[in-house]
Amino acid sequence: MSENTPAAAATPETAPAEKRDFIRQIVREDLASGKHTAIKTRFPPEPNGYLHIGHAKSICLNFGIAGEFDGVCNLRFDDTNPAREDPEYVAAIQDDVRWLGFGWNELRHASDYFEAYYLGAQKLIRDGKAYVCDLSADEVRAYRGTLTEPGRDSPWRNRSVEENLDLFARMRAGEFPDGARTLRAKIDMASGNINLRDPAIYRIKHVEHQNTGNAWPIYPMYDYAHALGDALEGITHSLCTLEFEDHRPLYDWCVDNVDYASDPQLTQPLVDKGLPREAAKPRQIEFSRLNINYTVMSKRKLMALVTERLVDGWDDPRMPTLQGLRRRGYTPAAMRLFAERVGISKQNSLIDFSVLEGALREDLDAAAPRRMAVVEPLKLVLANLPEGHEETLTFSNHPKDEAFGERQVPFARELWIERADFAEVPPKGWKRLVPGGEVRLRGAGIARVDEVVKNDAGEIVELRGWLDPESRPGMDGANRKVKGTIHWVSAVHGVPAEIRLYDRLFSVPDPDEESEGKTYRDHLNPASRTVVTGYVEPAAADAAPEQSFQFERTGYFVADRRDHGTGTPVFNRSVTLRDTWSAR
Ligand code: ATP
Ligand code: MG
Repeated sequence: MSENTPAAAATPETAPAEKRDFIRQIVREDLASGKHTAIKTRFPPEPNGYLHIGHAKSICLNFGIAGEFDGVCNLRFDDTNPAREDPEYVAAIQDDVRWLGFGWNELRHASDYFEAYYLGAQKLIRDGKAYVCDLSADEVRAYRGTLTEPGRDSPWRNRSVEENLDLFARMRAGEFPDGARTLRAKIDMASGNINLRDPAIYRIKHVEHQNTGNAWPIYPMYDYAHALGDALEGITHSLCTLEFEDHRPLYDWCVDNVDYASDPQLTQPLVDKGLPREAAKPRQIEFSRLNINYTVMSKRKLMALVTERLVDGWDDPRMPTLQGLRRRGYTPAAMRLFAERVGISKQNSLIDFSVLEGALREDLDAAAPRRMAVVEPLKLVLANLPEGHEETLTFSNHPKDEAFGERQVPFARELWIERADFAEVPPKGWKRLVPGGEVRLRGAGIARVDEVVKNDAGEIVELRGWLDPESRPGMDGANRKVKGTIHWVSAVHGVPAEIRLYDRLFSVPDPDEESEGKTYRDHLNPASRTVVTGYVEPAAADAAPEQSFQFERTGYFVADRRDHGTGTPVFNRSVTLRDTWSAR
């Protein structure tokens, strides 16, 4: 029996503007016409890897529709392929769906239905619509024909019902080796749609299954199992990606010809397992899959990146997996906003990576408290302040939202500033520090550099300067005009932090394109991760893991989910403040 979570609202918050894509229009019409009185969708991942951002589009669609139309959405593990599944993936997928903010109606496995699938196949045999075929895989291929030529009937196509029933029972009993026989749907070897040329619906595979153990030496094929799983769950709208468009006639054939509603005995195995007896005629609707540039999105390639150690695991913050994006600092709200922006259509398109980053910036601009952190530190000593001078300044946590409150920021005679905020020889238009020049220290007053201290190698090791005593916060001189404002961290109180500067994993827009013997492996961006030690103000060091901040002038950062919390603070750059890629 499946474990179920208590029914939760399918969408986390009240739906904003009504969405009007073609699938939602179909759903609206089906409700208006009375074709359906309740909507039921499902998200059906195969547990053979971690979910990626493409899956998030499907999750937001299926759970989103259920939530908007007062329906429900099931989470169904399409576990018909025993050799490739792992309980680790099953757990991670549930975690990901919950993280995105959705709750499923029921959690099912396709393997819950193996007995009902089997009864369905026996019915097809009895009705003369399926037969046991002894052709080998190669022979089946040779008989299948091509796009321009019809196929040929298998010599086993006209076996009697009795013989088929007997052979199918013996397949199930484990009498035959892998690949010796298949059960095939008897449809049309001359069909223009190759999917209808007597497709296999069962194959022999003596492999242990994660849920059913060694109970089954035969396993249903995807098209058959998927269509019937939808029917058995009472799914009204079965949403899938465009590559299944040509499979739709087979999907309908399976649903119509097994027709679970025709005979209660066919669904008795569900009742025996304590599952409701449901039998619907679901409608398959296809939409275009999500593709994003500068990334790869197939589970196979993501798996290779992990196993070849080109990244640090499925949750490496550069990965387009939901675990990776989460660790990078992507928020559920940003993911849902992204899915909404991308929309739903039948047009295949390539979404620019900046759309994803834009959604994150938009969410974090509103949701992330501000802090100060120095990524590449250079010391500035304000020599006119008394030796050992320290004080506490009050900063607001968010410039646009008072609800974020205020915090105390320690200030001292010695500060860390960004190396990049000082130039001995400034380029044209420079607004930051130069020898003898002034700059505003965010919230602390106006400072000037008087002396540049260098080591024997000629490298700048320290700046010594002066803080205008008339420019302190609250004084009249504080509003005196200077060109630039820079951020800083007290060198006395600042906490050293490991700062991981992430960038896109691939340096070319289409890493999937294989040319001149190069594959996506050859297009990894060598600068996709730089680790530095910087300084953060105490109020950032104290953050809980997964807390996001805007480090002023630097970018949005998140306290690392795994490594932050004990010892040195660890922050991942989620996204820069501005898009630096479009201009390249
Ligand atoms: P991949 O091809 O990356 O291995 P998949 O399609 O095999 O993915 P499944 O676990 O079978 O992965 O997918 C579960 C659901 O997610 C399916 O309904 C599938 O259509 C949908 N899905 C997978 N990738 C995308 C994508 N890029 N865009 C939208 N939906 C997707
Ligand atoms: Mg798949």
